[in-house]
Amino acid sequence: MTDTPTTDPSALGHVGIVAIVGRPNVGKSTLLNNLLGEKIAIVSHLPQTTRNRILGVKTWDGNQLVLLDTPGIHRRRANMNRFMVQEAFDSLAGVDCVVLVSEVSTAVARVAPEEVSPELHAEDAYVVEQVTKHQSEAPLIVALNKIDLLHDRRALLPLMAGWSQRGQSEMVPISARTGEGVPVLLGEILKHVPRGPLLYPEDMVTDRVERFLCAELIREQIFEHFRQEVPYATAIEVESFEERSATHDVRLEAVIFVERQSQKAILIGKGGAAIKKIGIGAREEIAKLLGCTVHLQLTVRVADEWTRSPAGRRRFGYEP
Ligand code: GDP
Ligand code: MG
Repeated sequence: MTDTPTTDPSALGHVGIVAIVGRPNVGKSTLLNNLLGEKIAIVSHLPQTTRNRILGVKTWDGNQLVLLDTPGIHRRRANMNRFMVQEAFDSLAGVDCVVLVSEVSTAVARVAPEEVSPELHAEDAYVVEQVTKHQSEAPLIVALNKIDLLHDRRALLPLMAGWSQRGQSEMVPISARTGEGVPVLLGEILKHVPRGPLLYPEDMVTDRVERFLCAELIREQIFEHFRQEVPYATAIEVESFEERSATHDVRLEAVIFVERQSQKAILIGKGGAAIKKIGIGAREEIAKLLGCTVHLQLTVRVADEWTRSPAGRRRFGYEP
């Protein structure tokens, strides 16, 4: 009596790669926490680009989803560094499914259902348009989040009509906070994911890729607080990452590189006000990711015109 390896694909679970996209604050991190549970399982040995990071791996009942983030996707093309935006969309090639997280705005939550406008948020409309243009093969599911805020669920009807006017037929209303609708969303995702052997061990553990994620969270804050060329001219290097078991906290030192002295002045702000804001926001996000207290020290330095030279771009991981 020997065990023969099973070759029948129908005996395997669904295994695939899912990109999660969405503007800031729509609830992507909350959804991720809900999907992954308390444990953040991060992969370190896959090639990661700065525009495409692995957020976690969810494994259950023989199914496995590798969840990807594509942070640059909502940025409209700036003249500068347009290759970064292009890269964000390129990173969708090869994913099995894109989940676009959108939210029920607080304005919608307050008004009567018949007063709700089906008009999409401009950035959501942009993403739908771009995803369709760049990667027509990846099916897109809209996760309409924060439905727990609605006084009247009938308000979902005009909102869903707005998406279908844009050619989107797959929509799942969810609350990432309460978990409502999340199993339905998972079911919809699985419909697009082929059966196959697991890509990663069932019990992935967190490791040094945390540094990379911390750098991205700092970068995200810069995108949130600045417009135009400054965010595109920044690169982050985490210089030290120290987990202190005695105090159960993390000490992190990171350098924000910009191209010019003038950008450095903008990033620091009057009396350091701007860099302070970035530090507070980033520390909060990193603490959420790591689940402990974080001490973050940020420094701003100039790396002359780094985006303009291949060597500069390579240094910060934007080119192979
Ligand atoms: P991200 O920027 O897209 O990652 O968004 P976050 O997950 O950080 O969430 C932004 C804010 O929305 C946080 O204050 C969350 O607590 C809140 N939020 C996320 N999901 C829900 C939800 O389903 N319902 C409600 N009421 N709030 C939510
Ligand atoms: Mg987030």
